[in-house]
Amino acid sequence: MSGNVSRVGTWPGATTTVVGVIGDPVAHSWSPLLHNTAFASMGLDWVSLAFHVSRESLGDALAGFRALGLAGLSVTMPHKTTVAAIVDERSPVAETLGAVNCVYRRGASLVGDNTDGEGFLAAVRRGVGFDPLGRRCMVVGAGGAARAVILALAQAGAAELVVVNRTPERAASAAALAGSTGRVGEPSEAADMALVVDATPSGMAGAPGSGPPLVDAALLGPGHVAVDLVYHPLATPWLEAARTRGATVMGGLGMLVHQAAAQIERWVGVGPPLEALWSAAARAAKLPPESGTASG
Ligand code: NAP
Repeated sequence: MSGNVSRVGTWPGATTTVVGVIGDPVAHSWSPLLHNTAFASMGLDWVSLAFHVSRESLGDALAGFRALGLAGLSVTMPHKTTVAAIVDERSPVAETLGAVNCVYRRGASLVGDNTDGEGFLAAVRRGVGFDPLGRRCMVVGAGGAARAVILALAQAGAAELVVVNRTPERAASAAALAGSTGRVGEPSEAADMALVVDATPSGMAGAPGSGPPLVDAALLGPGHVAVDLVYHPLATPWLEAARTRGATVMGGLGMLVHQAAAQIERWVGVGPPLEALWSAAARAAKLPPESGTASG
């Protein structure tokens, strides 16, 4: 790890350690902001940059990463599965999911990891005090984020994992990640769950005409924890409706912060101060920092 650095004048310089985020598109990514805030708060001579990489160029990008001596990569849509196929090694979680959101070095090897599920678990534990052990959980959606959450909840000891998705075949494949505790279910079963996670983009600002959420918020109330992985807006209409009915709610900002913190820990060897990441994420969401900490 590099020592303290003055971030004025000639910085970044010849000794600055570089990490990056790759995606297509990538200009929307909050990762450089989160990483750079963390590095500054840790006094590190490190910088994070965004690289727009097409699918066809992924192999070259990884070769460049290796040749240029970058210290780490964050991987965003749509490259998570392709990168999983071309790294030298995968963590057990990345192997099971077939998706990588973080690459780090182990000697000469590039190791693919996935911190989405770990970030989700840290967010629900710290944000709303929810421990999945022995609890009934529903995940709505069966894409990359849903799969990471399903695996994390199953590994954390959830008693049952019920998956609801627009496309049933994808629901079955995602539920299988939870082994004997996973199954495909119906939205109406939400009433019997302790935790309901919406892992679809349906509440996202600017999402194309998405229709009503699969789970009616009217099924939720006191005793339920409702989580929407969307973080822009910080609270989706579905989450607001669940809150109005007395459910404990959490938006996606906590998962975003904790998955980024876990990536930085992989690269640097120690985790960043979470408060700094919360402040940066809240700034990005154009809200005062205390609004960010309140949601997870
Ligand atoms: P993805 O791989 O494209 O999967 C999207 C899932 O949502 C699919 O199961 C899809 O159903 C379903 N879906 C899409 N539009 C829908 C609609 N209008 N109504 C119902 N279901 C719909 O996407 P992803 O990477 O999993 O991301 C999902 C959401 O999580 C995004 O909003 C993303 O921003 C958010 N996310 C947040 C974090 C965080 O740190 N907070 C991390 C990752 C992702 P089908 O299978 O039927 O197509």
